[in-house]
Amino acid sequence: MERRKFLKNASLTGVGLAVGSTLVNCVENTSEGKPIPTESQEKGSIPLVIATWHVMDATAKAWEVLQAGGNSLDAVEQGCKVEEANEAGQSVGKGGLPDRDGNVTLDACIMDKHGNCGSVVYLQNVVHAVSVARKVMEDTPHVMLAGKGAEQFAYELGFPKEDLLTEASKKAWEEWKITSQYKPIINIENHDTIGMLAIDKNGDISGACTTSGLAFKMAGRVGDSPIIGSGLFVDNEIGACVATGLGEEVVKTVGSFLVVELMRQGKTPQEACEEAISRIVNKPNSDYKNFQVGYIAVNKKGVTGSYSIHQWFSMTKYQDGKNEQIQSDYFNKV
Ligand code: ASP
Repeated sequence: MERRKFLKNASLTGVGLAVGSTLVNCVENTSEGKPIPTESQEKGSIPLVIATWHVMDATAKAWEVLQAGGNSLDAVEQGCKVEEANEAGQSVGKGGLPDRDGNVTLDACIMDKHGNCGSVVYLQNVVHAVSVARKVMEDTPHVMLAGKGAEQFAYELGFPKEDLLTEASKKAWEEWKITSQYKPIINIENHDTIGMLAIDKNGDISGACTTSGLAFKMAGRVGDSPIIGSGLFVDNEIGACVATGLGEEVVKTVGSFLVVELMRQGKTPQEACEEAISRIVNKPNSDYKNFQVGYIAVNKKGVTGSYSIHQWFSMTKYQDGKNEQIQSDYFNKV
């Protein structure tokens, strides 16, 4: 609710906004006849961290790691952990809204500059799913651990067992049970996966993503967030992307990989995010009016972009010493 209020109060800015960085003013010609950019381009800078939604404390934590000379992998893990521990956030970690049976189940993934990755799906009773995902990447020959196996793995590593269902989330679930209306259609407010991308002082990129998924989902349902290429993708040569929104739609279009590949083909992060959203909304019979998807992306130079289907999606960006929330441009303007 608080996040939504903030989003509503935030001023709307358009595509190609240059908050926290500088715009290159472009001219069409010079007397020397040299090739000149013909459109405005955002000039990036590193280090930086961006995250989905309004998570200033999380980006501040990641920035602290980067400023101290830490690597981008540590930065995204530390940043995501802030939100996982925040009980007030009902979409991530402790205090996440449960599935329709009352169980809080977490999905998370992480990806490093080498293209290594790890993820956990349907993880219960462990707050820091992103750290377990990192351990899957670093300590096992696998990419993904699910359910009981992931939980057992976490305990073996010393992660504490904790009840993730807070009083507030239990109350919300009990209220939901009165009607038990099963609507896997995501509305804009209950949709706050934390996805984070960072570039460190060495120019290396990492990303992470953590969520309790769709509120009151079917038991066993997993969205895009722990799926490499869908919820998150990092290519250290090109850039990175992370998604939020109705995971099923992101999975069907392999959204984050698509955005990074579009950047590889020359699109700016903004253009790439817009194209990935257009692949969803332009499908024949797309039901996009009833769900939200948002992408944030960054390229190797530290230029960022964000775009969503509906209004009120935002990105938090810490760059050039400034931590700020940036309202995303969006598709559905009618
Ligand atoms: N993408 C997440 C999922 O589908 C939800 C979210 O972004 O809030 O599980």
